[in-house]
Amino acid sequence: MFIRLLVALIFSATPWFGGRAIAQEKPVILSSFTVIHDWVQVIGGKGFESKTIIPTRSEAHGFQLSPRHAKDLRRATLIVAMSPDFEPWLAAWGKANQRTDSILWLHSEATAHTSHDCADIPHAWTDPIEVKKMVKVLAERLNKIGGGLDTQIAYEQYLKEINSVDKELSQLFREIPLGKRAFISHHANLGHFAKHFGLTVAGTIIANGSGESADPSARHFSELLALIRKQKIRIIVTDEGQNTAFARRLTEDAGLPPPLSLSFEYLEPLGQPGDTWTSMMLTNGKRLHQALLNK
Ligand SMILES: [Zn+2]
Repeated sequence: MFIRLLVALIFSATPWFGGRAIAQEKPVILSSFTVIHDWVQVIGGKGFESKTIIPTRSEAHGFQLSPRHAKDLRRATLIVAMSPDFEPWLAAWGKANQRTDSILWLHSEATAHTSHDCADIPHAWTDPIEVKKMVKVLAERLNKIGGGLDTQIAYEQYLKEINSVDKELSQLFREIPLGKRAFISHHANLGHFAKHFGLTVAGTIIANGSGESADPSARHFSELLALIRKQKIRIIVTDEGQNTAFARRLTEDAGLPPPLSLSFEYLEPLGQPGDTWTSMMLTNGKRLHQALLNK
């Protein structure tokens, strides 16, 4: 009788046994950077061990894997990233290690069955419509892996949160008069954010789509200055943590307020404004709204 009870306890998912076993062997979900890490935590909850490769306050552009990432990559059940264009270092790792199947490319997957070209949107996390598609893809994949939790409820809750961020920012940007909605951004990261909220990115300081700071030319400086005067642009956005010398010279020569520093590229450490996708969008969105309104 005692043996049968013991066997029954071992093979049944009783909380004291099953709970401990699950706690020790949660599937590891590794995210490429902090925005995705936030979504995995929100959707996957306590069902997974969630880690990020690129830490808080660090952007994905120009990132390179180093040997210290090897252990996390090896342990990961799933690695979640945006697209092979955005994280080429991860695509290369997947190929070299025959782990392509372990990588979930959120934005590639979310747009796989549409005519939409995903290479167009390397910063899809700034657009609530794209975020909803990507979070759906994530919830479905996490559900298949199964961390002991149904991700559907968390997903539906989070949709409400995304909609509420969208609504709040949409209302704010509607206050900006139509003729005052254009700004210049540091690199090409806010095109879809702007389109979604009825704003215009008139030009960028760094010509290509990455955030890496190649020194913009004197010619580009003159072009931007002419553009600012022609379109009566008053706001120049810089990426937090990047060199702002070029932007500052531009604002001085054009007689504009100092550059507005925003951080849409990553999340902040826990407990600070911008520590979740929701907070990052609202914090930066409100600052941009205020700057456009005050100009
Ligand atoms: Zn960027």
